[in-house]
Amino acid sequence: MAATAAVDEAALAAVRGLMRAARVPGHFDKVYKEECMFCFASNESPGGLFINLSTHQAFDAEHLPLDQQRGGPALYLHQQARKVSQRRLTPSGSWRGMKPVQAVGT
Ligand SMILES: [Zn+2]
Repeated sequence: MAATAAVDEAALAAVRGLMRAARVPGHFDKVYKEECMFCFASNESPGGLFINLSTHQAFDAEHLPLDQQRGGPALYLHQQARKVSQRRLTPSGSWRGMKPVQAVGT
């Protein structure tokens, strides 16, 4: 049985109310999810990006209040990218991500 976290009913009701404004982008909708609308912050920047699920525009933590002032409360998808090295050793001692190479002409 999975452990469940206690959720505040008031917060849950607020999220349910905001879910009505969230929508799936259609074929002709523009989605700005690569960089903040006001600066060049990306999901690799510290703090990541917050994507407004009703306007499909991305904002970093610094400019998120500007979006909330303009459009009121909304639901956001938080994206935070992190780089992971491919050069990790597996338990067997081989390098993960490297394929064996056959020598030619030996
Ligand atoms: Zn920004």
